[in-house]
Amino acid sequence: MIVAEALLRVENLSKTYPNGVQALKNINLEVHPGEFLVVIGLSGSGKSTLLRCLNRLQEPTSGHIYFSGQEIGQLQDAAKIRSVRSKMAMIFQHFNLIPRQSVLKNVLMGRLAAKSTWQSLWGMFSGAERLEAKENLRLVGIAEKASLRADQLSGGQKQRVAIARALMQKPILLLADEPVSSLDPATCHVVMDYLRKINQEMGITVIANLHFLSLVRQYATRVVALKDGEIVFRGKPEEITEEWFRRIYGEGAQDVAPNDI
Ligand code: ADP
Ligand code: MG
Repeated sequence: MIVAEALLRVENLSKTYPNGVQALKNINLEVHPGEFLVVIGLSGSGKSTLLRCLNRLQEPTSGHIYFSGQEIGQLQDAAKIRSVRSKMAMIFQHFNLIPRQSVLKNVLMGRLAAKSTWQSLWGMFSGAERLEAKENLRLVGIAEKASLRADQLSGGQKQRVAIARALMQKPILLLADEPVSSLDPATCHVVMDYLRKINQEMGITVIANLHFLSLVRQYATRVVALKDGEIVFRGKPEEITEEWFRRIYGEGAQDVAPNDI
């Protein structure tokens, strides 16, 4: 059997914050091209820390991260870290848009990773980049909102702008940190459907932290569960039985009940 080379390989990754909190303990993980990997776990289990170590918003305390075969966990050079980060776009629970700027300008911001400082300062974008930004807005179904201010949009629309902005980076990996946790259930599905579309149709690998198990079952191709900074489950979404659910979330977990949406 031919096994495709992993896009991402994490070896013995640990992260201890300066205050002494051990957020990740010896994580080992492989992610293959085209996967939609979902990371679950209680609040505080280390999900965000894991994503932030992967794109080096946080520095791992020890261990290795190989991305497209390159060791990036120990990189110190800021320019090299930026270059890695440009291929790994990230979207966030609270969207991180610039509220008073137009939707189009927010999307164009996704190109900044590829620009010199002076081009960024002057906000210079080419006609081709503007066309591309509009195309990416069309992809997430909100082309007609391009000239509105970002703060005039609903939560779901804001997250779609954030996805369009991420696509401007032409990423090979998309990291999504609780992308639908601020949204109502119906809107969750709209946003998750767009994430699945860019995963399946554009071949962009996705790693998403998700709270609701029902969404995991619908969208994940594979799941890992974190508990107190350690991976306690890996498998297919359908393999998360009631018993696993209780082990991952504890007996009292009600806000993440399996069929809550
Ligand atoms: P999750 O995303 O699963 O809620 P986090 O990765 O945010 O988990 O947090 C994991 C642990 O690390 C928690 O105990 C949290 O309090 C701690 N933590 C997160 N960020 C920091 C930080 N910047 N400084 C110190 N401790 C942190
Ligand atoms: Mg988090």
